[in-house]
Amino acid sequence: MKSISILGSTGSIGTQTLSVVDENTDLKVVALTCGKNISLMEKQARKYKPKLVCVSGEEDANSLRVALKDTGIKVTSGMEGLIEAATMEEADIVLTAIVGMIGIRPTIAAIEKGKDIALANKETLVTAGHLIIPLAKKHQVSILPVDSEHSAIFQCLQGNRENTVDKILLTASGGPFRGKSYEELEHVTLEDALHHPNWSMGKKITIDSATMVNKGLEVMEARWLFDVPLSKIQVTVHPQSILHSAVQFEDGAIIGQLGTPDMRLPILYALFYPHRRELSGEKPDLFDIGSLTFEKPDFETFYGLQLAFDAANTGGNMPTIYNAANERAVALFLQGRISFLEIPELISKSMVEVDFCDDPTLEDILETEQNTYEFINSVCFRKIKAY
Ligand code: NAD
Ligand code: MG
Repeated sequence: MKSISILGSTGSIGTQTLSVVDENTDLKVVALTCGKNISLMEKQARKYKPKLVCVSGEEDANSLRVALKDTGIKVTSGMEGLIEAATMEEADIVLTAIVGMIGIRPTIAAIEKGKDIALANKETLVTAGHLIIPLAKKHQVSILPVDSEHSAIFQCLQGNRENTVDKILLTASGGPFRGKSYEELEHVTLEDALHHPNWSMGKKITIDSATMVNKGLEVMEARWLFDVPLSKIQVTVHPQSILHSAVQFEDGAIIGQLGTPDMRLPILYALFYPHRRELSGEKPDLFDIGSLTFEKPDFETFYGLQLAFDAANTGGNMPTIYNAANERAVALFLQGRISFLEIPELISKSMVEVDFCDDPTLEDILETEQNTYEFINSVCFRKIKAY
């Protein structure tokens, strides 16, 4: 029996993790957390009977306490509750599927308690990789990637740890706007941007795929997870999303992982690593797939991707500025307050304007996040007033 604590259980990754739990009776859920979706949380709590649940707000926690009164499940709220869920004595592994930098503190707390981490939350390594990776080494915990690309790379490296990696080939679908020119992106709508060709995911990451900022964040994550210099990471556009990523070794050999676009596989692999398990649903068939194609990314039209390389090269708190600016810009785009092309524009401006710091502590990172939000608010407030 493996006990698991799921942070962000009501989201896209969280619910898919629970469907993996449904199919594997030797997985036991000990804690569930979410932001605001307390009706789904109540259903999940009744079904999986964790010891603890946590929601963002104290008012929601009060309502949930009443609703779950007959179950004996402890209901908590806020960062304190998240950390309690992440550090539970009973948990063998913590799956972090929260969206945003709020995932950093609970992940650090879990590592300090010696818990293995199944990591979906991108922001953790993007902004705090320089703190998380040494900490994980110190406490001898494994960071198991729950992202199709990083899981693929991780799978390709099995049995190859001693061999020199020449390149990591990080695949990208190119999103709904692949092949479009910058001018053509001027008038795309929210609905167009939410229409991902291959993957069904949360809204934020779907927009990130349309701008290719998601790939930028994945480049930064890959660098920490696999300890490779940026120059060895090559983004490769592959519209079919069948090759989930590959590794090229010094003899030129490329080893890749192929599969259908289904996040349950990386989740399953992380939870049972190094073992594989049966996964329900159709298995990929090469005859049906027919052909796979590869293209160079368009760094000019999708310059949010180029900015990620720039931010990673600069280091310090620049990836945090990049990430926080994007997070806020995407939220504004989702609210219909800015256009699609203003997302990379705001990231770029923030990278110039927000205070830089070379070797940020956790506090510096969180402060940078706030500074970036304030900067974006000031820019957008001016803009709204000017109309
Ligand atoms: P989502 O928006 O569908 O779900 C996010 C979860 O976090 C929800 O349970 C939500 O209630 C919770 N949450 C949000 N804000 C919170 C807050 N302030 N406090 C506490 N909980 C909060 O997101 P998702 O698509 O499942 O993505 C989760 C993470 O995994 C992201 O970092 C994303 O980049 C990464 N990821 C997702 C996919 C995917 O296929 N969806 C693939 C790879 C990586
Ligand atoms: Mg991915």
